[in-house]
Amino acid sequence: MFLHPNAKENTIRSEVSCAGIGLHSGKTIHLRLLPASEGSGVVFIRRDLGGVLIPADHAHIVSTYLSTTIGVEGASVQTIEHLMAAVSAMEIHNLIVEVDGPEVPVMDGSSGPFVTLLAKAGVDCQSSKRSFMEIMKPITVSEDEKQVTIHPGSSFEIEYRIAYNHPAISEQSYHYRHSPLAFKREIAAARTFGFLKDVEYLKERGLARGGSLDNAVVIGDDGVLNEQGLRFSDEFVRHKILDLIGDLSLIGMPILGRVEATCSGHSLHAKLIEEVLESKKSWRIVTPPSPVVKRPAYPSYQGVSFSHPAI
Ligand SMILES: [Zn+2]
Repeated sequence: MFLHPNAKENTIRSEVSCAGIGLHSGKTIHLRLLPASEGSGVVFIRRDLGGVLIPADHAHIVSTYLSTTIGVEGASVQTIEHLMAAVSAMEIHNLIVEVDGPEVPVMDGSSGPFVTLLAKAGVDCQSSKRSFMEIMKPITVSEDEKQVTIHPGSSFEIEYRIAYNHPAISEQSYHYRHSPLAFKREIAAARTFGFLKDVEYLKERGLARGGSLDNAVVIGDDGVLNEQGLRFSDEFVRHKILDLIGDLSLIGMPILGRVEATCSGHSLHAKLIEEVLESKKSWRIVTPPSPVVKRPAYPSYQGVSFSHPAI
């Protein structure tokens, strides 16, 4: 296992903000990202409710229906996964996320706009060393044909496979090896997707009110309805990886392990987190070793350096 000895916690350098439609409420939501002190993790604030704090961790997951929602009594924030994927993949550990509504704006349905926002904010490297969760033994959760397993590994990797009974998607698989650059190039731009019949069903029930071709790939009987088509031929499976990265970030620290997922979704991702945290003997927390202290340079005398003695 190789861990960069200088791996430290990060926050953002300056405050940034954006606004957009909430996928489910259909309302305009303002989002502000602010620096946070080391060890604080990612914390959401509902400004419209007088500043209620909601930590972005597994203990605060209150729903995984259609998206991942975190909450405390009387306050919640829905659809956090696309922002959380960008935050964790860009290696920002401590952050305040202020919203004035019940969800994160969906933007274009991907993590791309959040990656851009974080780049604008810049990175502030803090002094605490970053901790990692190193998986030691495989852990599996399943539900019907859906399955997710996390295996031991020396880096963070995801192998995802999906199978839909629709020719626009059919079977797709993708192997992702994490790095901030790989996330930016391969995953961040992949948009959320849905079938037209499901979108209509949800809208009839007051959900997905903000859903449109501007923020999702919509699939009709004859294929993709978005005029511009897809951003990647396998955009669907790439988005599933994006969702998984966002959901797994609720563990609270980067993972050293290889995830293998088949036809999974938010609820099984949350079940995996629960199972991992309960299986305490299957992982350990590691911090990078301290850098080797350099031997002090030998003194020079009147410009003549002494050479190191042979060991
Ligand atoms: Zn998603």
